[in-house]
Amino acid sequence: MGRQSVPRDQWLAMGAECPTCGEQVSEEDVYARRPVPEDPKLLLLWCPECGERMEIHHV
Ligand SMILES: [Zn+2]
Repeated sequence: MGRQSVPRDQWLAMGAECPTCGEQVSEEDVYARRPVPEDPKLLLLWCPECGERMEIHHV
């Protein structure tokens, strides 16, 4: 699983790039916003193309 740190504004505007297939993954593909309660800035995403799971950490 890849983990990326992305500024929130950038993430909302452009999405995030899947490290496996390069697909742009958007906010619609968010799987869980707070997978760990201690870290509310973490998002889990599923890539719609290859099924890769990613963690996005808002900075
Ligand atoms: Zn992918």
